Amino acid sequence: MLENLILRVAVPVPLYSCFDYLAPDGVDPKDLLPGMRLLVPFGRGERCGVLLELVVESELGVESLKQANKLLDAEPLLGSDDLELLLWAAEYYRHPIGDVVASALPVRLRKGKPRAASGLPGWRLTPAGVEQNPDSLARAPRQAQILHLLQQHGVSLSQADIYRYEGECRSILRAMEQRGWIESCDVGVPKAVASKGGPVVTVELNPDQQKAVDAVSQRGDIFQSFLLDGITGSGKTEVYMALVESALAAGRQVLILVPEIGLTPQLMQRFQERIDVPMALLHSARSDLEREQAWSAAARGEAAVVLGTRSAVFTPMPRLGLVIVDEEHDLSFKQQDGFRYSARDLALVRAQRRECPVILGSATPSLESLRNAQTGRYAHLLLLERAGNAVPPRLDILDIRSVHLDAGISPTLFRMMQEEIQAGNQTLLFLNRRGYSPLLSCYDCGWIAECRRCDARLTYHMGSGVLWCHHCGSQRRVDQVCPECKGEKLKPLGQGTERLEEVLAVRFPDVGIVRIDRDSTRRKGSLQRLLGEIHQGRHKLLLGTQMLAKGHHFPNVTLVGILDVDQGLFGADYRAAERMAQLITQVSGRAGRAEKPGRVVVQTRHPDHPLIHTLVRNGYGAFAMEALQERQAALLPPYSHQALVRAEATTDRMPRAFLDDAMELGQAMGAGDVEFWGPVPAPMERRAGSFRAHLLVQSNSRGELQRLLAGWLPQMRGLKSARRVRWSVDVDPQEML
Ligand code: ADP
Ligand code: ZN
Ligand code: ZN
Repeated sequence: MLENLILRVAVPVPLYSCFDYLAPDGVDPKDLLPGMRLLVPFGRGERCGVLLELVVESELGVESLKQANKLLDAEPLLGSDDLELLLWAAEYYRHPIGDVVASALPVRLRKGKPRAASGLPGWRLTPAGVEQNPDSLARAPRQAQILHLLQQHGVSLSQADIYRYEGECRSILRAMEQRGWIESCDVGVPKAVASKGGPVVTVELNPDQQKAVDAVSQRGDIFQSFLLDGITGSGKTEVYMALVESALAAGRQVLILVPEIGLTPQLMQRFQERIDVPMALLHSARSDLEREQAWSAAARGEAAVVLGTRSAVFTPMPRLGLVIVDEEHDLSFKQQDGFRYSARDLALVRAQRRECPVILGSATPSLESLRNAQTGRYAHLLLLERAGNAVPPRLDILDIRSVHLDAGISPTLFRMMQEEIQAGNQTLLFLNRRGYSPLLSCYDCGWIAECRRCDARLTYHMGSGVLWCHHCGSQRRVDQVCPECKGEKLKPLGQGTERLEEVLAVRFPDVGIVRIDRDSTRRKGSLQRLLGEIHQGRHKLLLGTQMLAKGHHFPNVTLVGILDVDQGLFGADYRAAERMAQLITQVSGRAGRAEKPGRVVVQTRHPDHPLIHTLVRNGYGAFAMEALQERQAALLPPYSHQALVRAEATTDRMPRAFLDDAMELGQAMGAGDVEFWGPVPAPMERRAGSFRAHLLVQSNSRGELQRLLAGWLPQMRGLKSARRVRWSVDVDPQEML
């Protein structure tokens, strides 16, 4: 009966079911295994789907089934446990299975391309190249840049990557090869990195670190979640590396998830230097081909370590034995559109199914994870002191009520900056708003430039002379006269990083200033270049947005000024305070890492705000305990579970009408323990020309919420009013936008 086997296929279309097909011509169903790709007819076209299972019966009846067109793989791309994790995720996040399965595959494989051969042409530094100082190559600037690039990226890069950063540069690479600084290599799987000309420095773990390592390694091959809660600089990364080494020694593969890697090249570099095994790097700075090769190397078990961003959580790893999520509080682990999964949470699910330990690390753990540590679901590992000799920075509040600010900086802070500059130290100023100023306003009538498509003000970017909406991306030339009163006195109001840089350049004319934000780092490689310049000490003043808060070590920064905390204190989102506290703590952690102690100054007009107070006096841990009590009193997550239904349409009526109908349906389903909040207009009701509304569903029980969603969502899809809106559901939403 084998020839009658039916193929159940996940097809990447926005529909919630799988689709049944018969085997393609000439293919014996016996040769088919779940996880193989098939080209199947769909509608009038053809899609690349993944075989989930072989069954003997179809609801449709065998006669009406179509044949698949073609089998694409001789071996499965995904193993049975990979598929099970994806099925679990599709169900939990209520997302179409075909799309979920597709998101686990590298882009080229998703599109039905044949698997690529392994190995890409690339270049790596020789020990001489590692030693060579790029700054000494003033007369060969492009060589200096490439040298710097390779040094920043942990020694080897594919030729395609180098071209992407530097443009076509074959002859320059040849010249550098002749000088003995680089040599060609294969970088499909980055093999052991060229040594830095000496033994890799290993540190002796301090007692707290050792305790953490022992706690995890004792668990061996059973599932246990750990929260590695350690202040910045306490040596979390060293703990990871010790654990990775012991997992590798036991023949296991290790999965390491990190936030956006473009922002933290140093972490990657440290791992590559220390851990001398083939490593698969999966992040957006790599080409599709490179990512696919890294993915395949992991799936074949050749790459012992997978280091990647969010979607790397789905990488097949036959020998997986340890999962690490670094900076677990980071928002980038949650996908905010389409398949809205949390890579951190799926990492836990994956470790549980695989029965291996999982470590969530952070200096500012999410309230969810701290709650899990309190209840004992996670083992709580604390690193309370900075490793080595570094002392933690001192935090101070700077009351700026009725103080005249210049570019958002108080005279006291200016004085402190002056002192640090004179002492030859670096100062970091943090302002989470890019552009020149967040407002352009008419001096005569008070008109403010607003986006035509959003309920939002336009940000003025002086450098490019445009008004720019940071929400929908639309831009226009800056107005010359006020459209309301025809007055000509249009003035920027408020501070952005661009304006801050301008003011600082006037105040400190002889001091090197560097700005790091999305505008100044738009070109590929420019972030690396700027970070390199900072480390070489070329700049004394560093200013930037949250890009500066992430994982960089600035050992010569002795003063951190946080300029605009107040806007974060009163955000529309109940998580605003948590995010602000994390940001302040993370930025603070950049200071005084080495022998020089650091100082952090928080400017605020609300010095008595309980959040600021607790945070500054008693640290993030104390803040988090207070914030958890507030959440408990308000029955907000992590004390309850939420799903957010978002709807948008071209009128403000349609999303509300749909959500009203949806709520009626849900309430009629008599879900006992589930509450409905809304519908309400989204905090920014109009965005990119659409009107948006929300319906929040909340329950004390995750199970109850899931049961409701399972019955409710299919019925919502049948609503008449659903046809006039675009809508989605977000399980465990992280942002209420
Ligand atoms: P985190 O990841 O918690 O921010 P790191 O692991 O990056 O901390 O450590 C901070 C610094 O302290 C690094 O320069 C690291 O090499 C150093 N360090 C970590 N552990 C030790 C140790 N046990 N002894 C000496 N130095 C250490
Ligand atoms: Zn006007
Ligand atoms: Zn807009």
